[in-house]
Amino acid sequence: MILDGKATSMTRQADLKKTVESLDGAPHLVVILTTDNPASTTYVKAKEKAAKKIGFKSTIIHDMTGDEADLLKTIHTLNNDSDVHGILVQLPLAEGLDVKRVMDAIDPKKDVDGFHPINVAALFQNRPGFVPATPRGIIELLDTYDIPLSGKHAVIVGRSQIVGLPMVHLLTQRHATVTVCHSRTVDLKAHTLSADILVVATGRPHLITADYVRPGATVVDVGINRVEGKLIGDVDFEAVKEVAQAITPVPRGVGPMTITALLENTLDAYQQLRSQT
Ligand code: NAD
Repeated sequence: MILDGKATSMTRQADLKKTVESLDGAPHLVVILTTDNPASTTYVKAKEKAAKKIGFKSTIIHDMTGDEADLLKTIHTLNNDSDVHGILVQLPLAEGLDVKRVMDAIDPKKDVDGFHPINVAALFQNRPGFVPATPRGIIELLDTYDIPLSGKHAVIVGRSQIVGLPMVHLLTQRHATVTVCHSRTVDLKAHTLSADILVVATGRPHLITADYVRPGATVVDVGINRVEGKLIGDVDFEAVKEVAQAITPVPRGVGPMTITALLENTLDAYQQLRSQT
């Protein structure tokens, strides 16, 4: 079975559009870009396009001076602007900018990327807060296809703050038994072969081949790698789809779900901010 992130996203975005039409205002997402990195520019444009399509207000701020004080001032202004509901600073930041100071500056109530320490702690303690978009989107995709998580062995390959570590919490909250693997894991294959759910987020093209996957497993490929002008994942899709029971493709898998989850976070931010005024 193909876990079709594109189709699932289209359905969820149509629902979001209906919700937005019923509001007496529009959620406003502001994305700040600090580099002209082509991948970041592509992601930011895709986010803006999706936001506008469902009736959000969307603003992209190009802050390329590399001046951290200026960037922090911009964030502060957005924090205090009641017309702004979601603030996202696209990572990676331009060289010389301190990611922790920048994330700390965002109002946690508008932190739709879920990287502020308050939101990270909320996830850790299973309290309400913003969950980073990619992990939120992955769980929504698995739920859409009724993939059981409780009691299952989930193996996550990659321990990034953006994907791997939040997935540990989300899957644990859903009663999976979780193993985290990374670049220093000894005998990766021994771990992945015991996975009911295998989530791969390494940025290593086709790291996971068919012999790493237990027959009947569910495989989620987060990787986005451009190789010879083509986008490919961290999983050898063509071979692994013959072994796995369910698998996400690249593209049209986790990528579109990430964008949809970001829009969902922004709508949540809008509704929470509105309910407080
Ligand atoms: P990262 O670069 O921050 O970290 C990579 C992780 O993979 C590290 O924890 C490292 O220990 C692990 N790793 C590297 N080589 C390994 C190996 N040979 N064996 C086992 N573990 C290994 O990763 P990230 O930011 O989570 O991104 C991972 C990939 O996912 C990238 O391709 C990125 O472009 C992609 N990504 C996609 C989306 C999306 O929306 N689809 C979102 C975020 C990231």
